[in-house]
Amino acid sequence: MSASSPVEDCLFCRIVAGDVPADVVHRSDTTLAFRDVNPQAPTHVLVVPQEHHVDAAALARDAPATVAHLVDAARMVAAAEGLDDGYRLVFNAGAQAGQTVFHVHLHLLGGRDLGWPPG
Ligand code: AMP
Repeated sequence: MSASSPVEDCLFCRIVAGDVPADVVHRSDTTLAFRDVNPQAPTHVLVVPQEHHVDAAALARDAPATVAHLVDAARMVAAAEGLDDGYRLVFNAGAQAGQTVFHVHLHLLGGRDLGWPPG
């Protein structure tokens, strides 16, 4: 789906709308960043576009400037969190990669040593 209007049964659209509570750490005209409920690192924040796009490829196709907005928002959150030694940004795309919420989200992970390759 390439539609960008809110999707009724989409968890992250509901968080953007304020219908589901979240620990919001950053907001811009096009993005929202909030803490992951199941953090995998001392800092684990999800940065989402306010508009609905299913995955990073769909976002790049339909609203390419917003990809940069997500990365820039992550940079600002990382700075606010004091992640001066580095951080990881991850888009999971598709079920085999572990995507469980089909509203694109950029994982910002930091605050510990992060192994490579990822699981
Ligand atoms: P992914 O597996 O890449 O689709 O990432 C989805 C992420 O959303 C997981 O890391 C979940 O822990 C996280 N998550 C699920 N529900 C919520 C919620 N209500 N608030 C914040 N994070 C959530």
